[in-house]
Amino acid sequence: MDLKTNILSVRAKIDRALAAAGRQPEELTILAVTKYVDASVFKELLTYGLQEIGENRLQDAVGKQEALGELKTKFKWHFIGSLQTNKARAAALRFDLIHSLDRINLAEVLSRVGEEIERRIPVLIQVNVSGERTKHGIAPDEVGVFYEEIRKLPGLRASGLMTMAPYTKDPETVRPVFRELRFLFEQVKAEYNPGPEWRELSMGMSNDYAVAIEEGATIVRIGSAIFGV
Ligand SMILES: *Cc1c(COP(=O)(O)O)cnc(C)c1O
Repeated sequence: MDLKTNILSVRAKIDRALAAAGRQPEELTILAVTKYVDASVFKELLTYGLQEIGENRLQDAVGKQEALGELKTKFKWHFIGSLQTNKARAAALRFDLIHSLDRINLAEVLSRVGEEIERRIPVLIQVNVSGERTKHGIAPDEVGVFYEEIRKLPGLRASGLMTMAPYTKDPETVRPVFRELRFLFEQVKAEYNPGPEWRELSMGMSNDYAVAIEEGATIVRIGSAIFGV
């Protein structure tokens, strides 16, 4: 695995996509999705300026955080996998942003933890734009109502939307998925006036991040293109 080469080539492609869209590098957060690798790789990520980590399994993430010790505080931790209600508390305590809020009872549990620790837990609403049955997330036409429900919860901070596009060889075919998420994001903004905390669009993975950036992604989640798996 040549981490350096991979990261340089991802960054070059990201820069091209940003330039094509007339966007600034500061508008984008690159998550290194580390689900494929163990804690020994993390230090090297820092040397390449990657400080934001995406993990999709709580137990794996906890293991890596423990192995990292003090070093774990150098990173921001994003939970991107589907979250079981009985693991919500641990996730709220260990992660800086949860990308996968997809149901009301999970929102309620997270909010209670937030109230206890006096911190509004930052979350993104996961949307199943493509409608694939295997994917988690709120249906597009329910996003507004869902947002209206969770904005009342005092221990949560709803910061935006997340989606996973279907896997495809040609990323152009999923452009409409990203465009739709952006549209839903703008719709919430126009309808509910959420203020500046409503600001994230988490979309784009190794296969399709350039297209997602062109369509307005503020967070891309990249695993295999970085780790070469
Ligand atoms: C694994 C994963 C990614 C990264 O996928 P790659 O194709 O390896 O870049 C992004 N988001 C989620 C939710 C994932 O589970």
